Amino acid sequence: MSQQLSRRINSLPVSQTLAMAAKARELKEQGKDIISLSLGEPDFNTPDFIKDAAIQAINDNYNSYSPVNGYADLREAICRKFKRDNNLNYTANQVVVSTGAKQSIANLVMVLLNPGDEVLLPAPYWVSYSALTILAEAKYIEIPSSIETNFKITPEQLEAAITPKTKMIFFNSPNNPSGTVYTEEEFRALAKVLEKYPNIYILSDEIYEHINYGTPNFSFAAIESLYDRTITVNGVAKAFAMTGWRIGYIGAPEWIAKACNKMQGQITSGANCIAQRATITAIEAPVSKIQYMVDEFETRRDLMIDLLSKIEGIKTNVPEGAFYIFPDVSYYFGKTIKGKVIKDASDFSMLLLEEANVATVTGDAFGAPDCIRISYAASQENLIEAVKRIAEVLA
Ligand code: GLU
Repeated sequence: MSQQLSRRINSLPVSQTLAMAAKARELKEQGKDIISLSLGEPDFNTPDFIKDAAIQAINDNYNSYSPVNGYADLREAICRKFKRDNNLNYTANQVVVSTGAKQSIANLVMVLLNPGDEVLLPAPYWVSYSALTILAEAKYIEIPSSIETNFKITPEQLEAAITPKTKMIFFNSPNNPSGTVYTEEEFRALAKVLEKYPNIYILSDEIYEHINYGTPNFSFAAIESLYDRTITVNGVAKAFAMTGWRIGYIGAPEWIAKACNKMQGQITSGANCIAQRATITAIEAPVSKIQYMVDEFETRRDLMIDLLSKIEGIKTNVPEGAFYIFPDVSYYFGKTIKGKVIKDASDFSMLLLEEANVATVTGDAFGAPDCIRISYAASQENLIEAVKRIAEVLA
């Protein structure tokens, strides 16, 4: 019998972040000394006070299906978090808890996009934004930026990209992969454009909000004129070192939250009940409890900028948040290194994997083909060793 997969899955690109992480894992299992700087995942343990809450939840017999949109007291806690950290007013029926922010976004594209709709993606953008847009049979339009503008787009660029088919824009600050944080003023300048186009929805992915080294975060939903068409996405994975616990959530206009609830009710139901209980403890805790991780990420950021800037031809940005650095490596395109012709960022990333045993992710996957993404969510020792190896290969 022939194997006939759907057009849907055949047109879906593989997640390059996860593919590179899988490749690094596989090579490690074969005995290779790989340093994996591919995946965006804190190398810290989940803090004990959160683990204790999960253990308590198990002992309290939280073992049944939760409501599809999440426990009511968790959604209440999320509302308090939105108020405390983002000055956003949401009520519990505007919140949907999902199996990771990735599912939150998948729900949103499925409930808001029709085939042929256009989605604006300020580049560089996280790999799954474009993939999920394709899954919803919509079309993504990149708004390019470069290291010269610190990977920021301008209001003029935004306006030029809008067409009558534009349905949604994805916005992500602090940004994965560039680490760029937009200022409130920059948000407001972009909002001025969006105010003119009332049919455009704004998906504001704020998953890296706590991993921020100075520029205050801002939320599109804090702009009154946009609140009714903004969906704020967040989760506990990055800030609380809880990537595998899989809890994401949205604050949205109620009708959108209802639709996401309906979608999720047919796909996964409520998210993991133990992880939901632990999330209440995580987000109710003062943010100061996780500051030690943020401080360590900042030290590593400085270390990476220092080490990488000593390598000829690698242009670095100064990430102000998240835990990635996104150097421009286009200087090497067209050159032959270790017998390999480097045509693009994918070749460059592959060269680092094969010759330096360092796993990174090509910028192509993020809509920025001159760059590669390096995650510095790894020990300082590993970062120093990784850059040393990279320097040796490029020397
Ligand atoms: N968001 C993380 C990253 O960009 C985890 C992997 C993924 O889901 O893409 O590396």
